[in-house]
Amino acid sequence: MKHIDPVCGMVAKEETAKAKYEYKGKTYYFCSEECFDEFKKDPEKYLNSTEKKEMPHKKE
Ligand SMILES: [Zn+2]
Repeated sequence: MKHIDPVCGMVAKEETAKAKYEYKGKTYYFCSEECFDEFKKDPEKYLNSTEKKEMPHKKE
């Protein structure tokens, strides 16, 4: 399965991901420890920016 590293936006595969983190019921995968560290510092920042990228239109 493919996942998007929420920090850098790269594709992070389960098999090759360097780190894995469960947050608010979702599992996130990271290409590197650095991205994982960044995410842990401020998860909301990365979750919000990912959401904006994927859904440019307004939510109802
Ligand atoms: Zn990354």
